Amino acid sequence: MLRRKNQYPIGLPDLFGNVPEDFARNDESNCADCGINCVKLGEWYMVHDHVWEQAWAGQKRKPCYQIEALCIGCLEQRLGRTLMRDDFIPDVPINDPNKRQGASERLRNRLVACRARQL
Ligand SMILES: [Zn+2]
Repeated sequence: MLRRKNQYPIGLPDLFGNVPEDFARNDESNCADCGINCVKLGEWYMVHDHVWEQAWAGQKRKPCYQIEALCIGCLEQRLGRTLMRDDFIPDVPINDPNKRQGASERLRNRLVACRARQL
């Protein structure tokens, strides 16, 4: 998950799934919990605000305009359940499992899951 608060400035990964080549080497795309690079992992996606806010409840946040990233596994740990189709923002290229940057098997699975599983 890559998520920026409020806005999506030009030049950074955006809702259209564009990923500047050097961004995959940027620490900002590392998962806040486990440190894995979410871009390289193929876990580059966006969920609805209420899901993201729930995951960050009580957590220290970065300042505005900086990226917050969580891989699927760490986001699910925070939520206490697996992700499902309805958690993702629909009809945006960043959530297209066939996007050019690729999507992990775990992400592909969650994008079509009809129900969540408790962890
Ligand atoms: Zn993680």
